[in-house]
Amino acid sequence: MPITQRSSWLDPDLDSFRELARSFCQKELAPNIERWGEQKQVDRELWNKAGEVGLLCLSIPEEYGGGGGTFAHEAILLEEQAKAGDDSWGNSVHSGIVAHYIGSCGTEDQKKRWLPKLASGELVGAIAMTEPGTGSDLQNVRTKAIRDGDHYVLNGAKTFITNGAQAGLIVVVAKTDPGEAAKGVSLLVLETEGAEGFRRGRVLDKIGLKGQDTSELFFDDVRVPVENLLGGQEGLGFVHLMQQLPQERLIIAVGAVAAMESAVEQTIQYTKERTAFGREIFKFQNTRFKLAEAATEVAVSKAFLDQSIERHLKAELDVTGAAMVKWWTTDRLSRVADECLQLFGGYGYMNEYPISRAWTSARVQRIFGGTNEIMKEIISRSL
Ligand SMILES: Cc1cc2nc3c(=O)[nH]c(=O)nc-3n(C[C@H](O)[C@H](O)[C@H](O)COP(=O)(O)OP(=O)(O)OC[C@H]3O[C@@H](n4cnc5c(N)ncnc54)[C@H](O)[C@@H]3O)c2cc1C
Repeated sequence: MPITQRSSWLDPDLDSFRELARSFCQKELAPNIERWGEQKQVDRELWNKAGEVGLLCLSIPEEYGGGGGTFAHEAILLEEQAKAGDDSWGNSVHSGIVAHYIGSCGTEDQKKRWLPKLASGELVGAIAMTEPGTGSDLQNVRTKAIRDGDHYVLNGAKTFITNGAQAGLIVVVAKTDPGEAAKGVSLLVLETEGAEGFRRGRVLDKIGLKGQDTSELFFDDVRVPVENLLGGQEGLGFVHLMQQLPQERLIIAVGAVAAMESAVEQTIQYTKERTAFGREIFKFQNTRFKLAEAATEVAVSKAFLDQSIERHLKAELDVTGAAMVKWWTTDRLSRVADECLQLFGGYGYMNEYPISRAWTSARVQRIFGGTNEIMKEIISRSL
C-alpha cells in the first residue's frame, strides 16, 4: 500500500509521461549506479541518450528544443530517479536550473544559441556560484569578470560544482563591478570548449552522491565574449539568482520527499523479511512505531510539497515559501533516513544496501541549494 496519496497536480497525461520516465530510469540509471560511484561520474553518453528520448529540458518551450512541459514533468522525472535509487545524474541542475537561467534571464539570441544544445545533450550545463572562500554569502564572491573591449576577462576559482567535470556550458557568478556588493554581480555563460585559461580541478571525494562529478573549476584570464553576459546587462546577476533559486529549492524538496518515501518502503519490506528472537523485526512495537512515525513524516512532507508544487505551477511560489519547503523536507529526510537505517541493523551500514546510500545522500540536502540555516534567515525576514 502506498504511504502517500496521489499528488493533486497529476493528470492522465502526466501519468503516461511517468511511464516513459520510469522505463528510462530503470533501464539506464538503476543498473549503473555502483559503477558511476566508482568512476565518480555518470557516462557522458547518458546525456545524449536522455536527449534522444526527450527527457532533457522538459519544461523549456518546444521552440527552443525543450519538452514544452511544466515543472510537473521535472518533478516526475526526479521522483522516478529516486525510485530507481539514482543519486548520480545531475539532470536537475542541467534541466531544472541551468536551462531555466538561460530560458528566463537570457536574451532571445542566447536562448536560441544554447537551449537546443542543452536539450539534446550536446552540452552539459553547470552553475558555478560557490567559491573556496564564499558559499552562503553570495554577494561577496571574488571571481571577477572585467570588461576589456568586446570580451570579459574572467579570473577566480569555484568549488563544489555539480556536473563540473562534464559541463560544456557553465553559468558563472562573477563580479563585473567588484566595488559593489549585490549590484556588482553578473552571470556570465562560459562555453568551455577551447576556452583558454579555463581548467577543471579535482572531482571531489564525497561521503555521498558518489557518482556526481562535483568539481573544482579555475579561471585564469579566460576571455569570454560580451555576448555571453546573461541577459545582456551588467549587474543583474543577483536579481536573476533571486528569481531562480525558488525553483532550485523546490527541486531539492521533490528529491527529498521521493527519497524519504523510498527509504520507508525499503525499510517496511526489510523488517518484514528479517527475523530476530523468532519473529519478524516488523512485529516489535519499536519498529512499528518508528515506521508509523516515518510514514507520517513522509505524508506531511508530501502534502506540503504538493501544495508548493501547485503554487509554483501557478507562478505563485515565493522565496519564503521555497525556503520553507526546502528546509522542512530535507530536515525530515535526514531524520527518516537515519531511523530507517537503524532498523536495518549492521546491514544498514553496508554500501551494498541502498538504505546506506539514502542516508549519505540525505545529509547534503541540508547543505546545498542554500543551507537550512540560510533558509531560516530568509523565512525570518518575512515575519
Ligand atoms: C554535493 C554538493 C554539490 C554542490 N553543487 C553546487 C553547484 O552545483 N553549484 C554551486 O555553486 N554550489 C554547489 N554546492 C555548494 C553549496 O551550495 C554550498 O556548500 C552551500 O551554499 C554552503 O556554502 P559553504 O559550503 O561555503 O558554507 P558556509 O557558507 O561557509 O557555511 C558554513 C556554516 O555556516 C552557516 N552560516 C553561514 N552564514 C550564516 C548565517 N548568515 N546565519 C547562520 N548560519 C550561517 C551555514 O549554514 C553553515 O552551517 C554544492 C555543495 C555540495 C556539497
